[in-house]
Amino acid sequence: MRRRRSGEKGAHSPGRSMSGMTDCLFCRIVAGEIPATVVADTDGVLAFRDIDPKAPHHILVIPKAHYTNAADMAAAEPMLAGEVLAAAGRIAESEGFAADGYRLMFNTGGHGGQEVFHAHLHVLAGKPLGPMLAV
Ligand code: 5GP
Ligand code: ZN
Repeated sequence: MRRRRSGEKGAHSPGRSMSGMTDCLFCRIVAGEIPATVVADTDGVLAFRDIDPKAPHHILVIPKAHYTNAADMAAAEPMLAGEVLAAAGRIAESEGFAADGYRLMFNTGGHGGQEVFHAHLHVLAGKPLGPMLAV
């Protein structure tokens, strides 16, 4: 896992790039430069299996355009944020865990545990996940 933060806002104001950010892991997956097991692919959104699953089903849903985190994406492109959420719902149906339930999670920033600074929605499912962790 790379921990570099070069995908964060800065050179590509306001944190979005259609051309892809070559130093961003998830932009490189979108560009096809790094392989991933894709489960959904639309004009704006890509979903693929997490390389280190934390539940029996663990899928990441990302905007193809680069945003540092979910809040930046939602502020700049609320429709795109809705597309990401809607894709998660469709994936829950197609993967067969919608009825049992699942967890959606956007880790945001250091205290949120975010390690890849390209907005991504975690879709976790496949067993009872229990209550949210106490802190
Ligand atoms: P974060 O901690 O930023 O919310 O989540 C990043 C997620 O990306 C982690 O769950 C991690 O396992 C996943 N991940 C990191 N590198 C790769 C990769 O190269 N391919 C895939 N498919 N997932 C990755
Ligand atoms: Zn990116």
